[in-house]
Amino acid sequence: MFASVIVDIASSQIDKVFDYIVPESMSLEVGTRVLVPFGKREIEGIVVKISNETNVISHKLKEIIKPLENFPVITNMQMQMAEFLKREYHIGLADSFRLFLPSEMRSGKVKDLTITNLFIEDEIKAKEYLSNLKANATKQKGAILKLLEVGKINQVLLNKEFGQSAVSKLKEEGIIKSACEVVFRKPYKNVILAQNKNIVLTPDQERVASLIKTKPAKYLLFGVTGSGKTEVYINVIKSCIENNKAAIMLVPEISLTPQVLGSFRARFGENVAILHSGLSSGERFDEWKRILLGQAKIVVGARSAIFAPMQNIGAIIIDEEHDGSYVSESHPRYNTLEIAEFLSEKQGASLVLGSATPSLDSYNKAIEGKYCLLELKNRVNAKPLPPLKIVDMAREMREGNPGIFSRALEEAIERTLKEGNQIMLFLNRRGYASFLMCKKCGWVAKCKDCDVSLVYHRAEHALKCHYCGNRYKVFTKCPNCDNENLKEGLLGTQQVVEKLREMFPGVKILRMDNDTTTTKDAHVKILNEFRENRAQILVGTQMIAKGHDFPQVTLVGIIDADVSLHQTTYKATERTFELITQVAGRAGRADKAGEIILQTYAPRHYVYNMAMHYDYTAFYKKEANMREVTSFPPFATIFRILISGENEDDVRNYTKILYTKMQEAQKENKEAFVYLGVMKSPIGRIQNKFRYQILMRIRKAEQSKIKDFIFNMLDENKSQNILAFVEINPQNLS
Ligand code: ADP
Ligand code: ZN
Ligand code: ZN
Repeated sequence: MFASVIVDIASSQIDKVFDYIVPESMSLEVGTRVLVPFGKREIEGIVVKISNETNVISHKLKEIIKPLENFPVITNMQMQMAEFLKREYHIGLADSFRLFLPSEMRSGKVKDLTITNLFIEDEIKAKEYLSNLKANATKQKGAILKLLEVGKINQVLLNKEFGQSAVSKLKEEGIIKSACEVVFRKPYKNVILAQNKNIVLTPDQERVASLIKTKPAKYLLFGVTGSGKTEVYINVIKSCIENNKAAIMLVPEISLTPQVLGSFRARFGENVAILHSGLSSGERFDEWKRILLGQAKIVVGARSAIFAPMQNIGAIIIDEEHDGSYVSESHPRYNTLEIAEFLSEKQGASLVLGSATPSLDSYNKAIEGKYCLLELKNRVNAKPLPPLKIVDMAREMREGNPGIFSRALEEAIERTLKEGNQIMLFLNRRGYASFLMCKKCGWVAKCKDCDVSLVYHRAEHALKCHYCGNRYKVFTKCPNCDNENLKEGLLGTQQVVEKLREMFPGVKILRMDNDTTTTKDAHVKILNEFRENRAQILVGTQMIAKGHDFPQVTLVGIIDADVSLHQTTYKATERTFELITQVAGRAGRADKAGEIILQTYAPRHYVYNMAMHYDYTAFYKKEANMREVTSFPPFATIFRILISGENEDDVRNYTKILYTKMQEAQKENKEAFVYLGVMKSPIGRIQNKFRYQILMRIRKAEQSKIKDFIFNMLDENKSQNILAFVEINPQNLS
């Protein structure tokens, strides 16, 4: 017998299968991890095929050294998934297997955790020994009696109770024996289990849940914030378990709080496995193993949990499906939603994408009939969504208030504090790349071809469009109102806190952003402090926007909404609508009414108007129309080939070769190309590697043809010291 093996080599350029002889005495299955000779080394690999024949000349064949586990670690489903990843994203099999396995497992860095148990093998012998013991041998006596009573016990515990010398003596005498047992490390042992509320679904929730349970399909669950989507998920998962099926529940990394985990543990106990980056390597390994062995049928995790080795899946749920974290933007690059679609089809499972603000892409698929649209239009508590007030900051300035807070917001903070309620103030600082804006009329420098904010490049003192490479001179005055007061710096959370302290001395304020949450549990601690009402105001970045339930919060302030609006991505407007809706959803969740105040220099922008009325459908129509006209996703596909290497001349030449080929492809497929261009990347050098890019936008109908062309081109033009890879619809171009 022969086995084809994918070897685990760091360079993703190699994705070759090597054949080996399976020794007579060895039984092997596809998906097993094996140790094989490779050149002069021994290296790990995965068996992808077993057969009676090989094309390799027999004297060149070597034998497999040994299997590394006595069971396959890659499931049949994962094999198919790896093929899918290769086809869709050009990810090599070796890289896919790395995604599927706990990384620490490779080269044996993590092992099973074992404990030593003690027990009595021969009871008669033990009793005889006991009766012959001297009266003062109380410890040995005690140990034997204990073991006779409980059967087996952890060695550490017995040593502690009766002393190590007594226990050793009994072992020497052959009275007690020891045996090793593998135990699983359990993440979040100490999470507080939520009260297991006995919730009866509302008729609305019941309607959508029963459809999902009875008819496997792809669903977009569009439910306003507080409409009880989580209860629907739980109901669906419960039904999976009752039918002996498994379920995957994905949550954005940032919302994967101990509260969420606690509520799943409370309902499903040991059946839940948790997978995310915060686990120790041992915990991750054990959770993975519990899933593989079928001991945990529910996995809750961040995006990579989609790769868990699950079998017989009944439902895949993706909460906050619009969240950017579901797209992996570094190697290997993939879109979790597309993988979930593939997996649900293969498994005949229901796919549920939940959101209060579906991504334009998903909603578009619902309209095209690719997803079945389910709506929850009302909050469970029947409270209307809180009123949202828009404040024109340019006008504030004209009327003599140049400060961070508008008069309306200041007044509302004061009032809320007096009432004893809590406040959340939100400041998005995500757009590092600075845009140029007029402080008087709100005008922002945009690309004339792409309707995307231009990025100010300090080094070249120029404005550039990151989508087409267009270059513009820096404006010295506003072309709209002639004002010369153009701004480009950004306001920070720290400044906001300082100002608040000045204005409201004695009020306890918390800050949550990248700077205050560097340690592992910091953000949980801050949120708990706020939940327990030990502070009145929480100031934060997008970290505080998602999913958290604070019943005491009645006022939400969005300090500078424009920061999000003017991010230099084609998704800026969509992200802004999302953010406002999510942030607004934090106010008035319990029985108290809430209010939201949004500060902007562009009060008439349609995104604010539509967010104010919580009118997602109107927003969708407007935004979709814009994307269609300018040929952006989901109506076109953006491909970026990123080329990098240490020698700039090599990188430039290599880029030129690829670009010439793309130009030929363009000539043959004129219809397909909306745009094709080549340029230095916006960040021209990272870690001493020069970066160039070929950027294109392709009409949707033609995208799969062009994609295949690009993948083939890269396969046929490999270079030793240059790295080239493709990004599909990247959200950030840097
Ligand atoms: P969403 O995820 O849609 O924003 P949640 O699932 O967080 O909404 O639900 C909002 C609140 O309503 C939660 O506190 C939840 O416990 C509660 N809730 C949900 N469904 C019900 C129900 N059927 N009966 C009572 N309370 C419910
Ligand atoms: Zn102006
Ligand atoms: Zn442009």
